[in-house]
Amino acid sequence: MDSPFSQEMRKMIDFYDEHYHLSTPLCLNTGRKLYLGNKENRECRFCCTTDPNLFKMEAHAFPEFIGNRELISNYECDICNERFSRTIEDHLAKYTLQAGCTRRLVAARDSQR
Ligand SMILES: [Zn+2]
Repeated sequence: MDSPFSQEMRKMIDFYDEHYHLSTPLCLNTGRKLYLGNKENRECRFCCTTDPNLFKMEAHAFPEFIGNRELISNYECDICNERFSRTIEDHLAKYTLQAGCTRRLVAARDSQR
């Protein structure tokens, strides 16, 4: 019998399977950058600014520290990008630090076989 945690996770997964569908499969690690959103007439999806002076930096749709170098968001302004990298991404990096170390150790071990 599944634990209450597993049952709750199953419900959440079923919910997302039922209500969300991948519209376009994304192929990452191709060596080419893929840009989300229009580069012209930008609007930040978080704060709704349209000031073109606030879209100078390249905003990664997923944090770069988890390996994303190619999926770039055109709808995230510099202020929100900086705020997320300083707060949420910093916390996520610290939270997943041990998993990252373990993953690298397993990868290093597997490459020696
Ligand atoms: Zn913004």
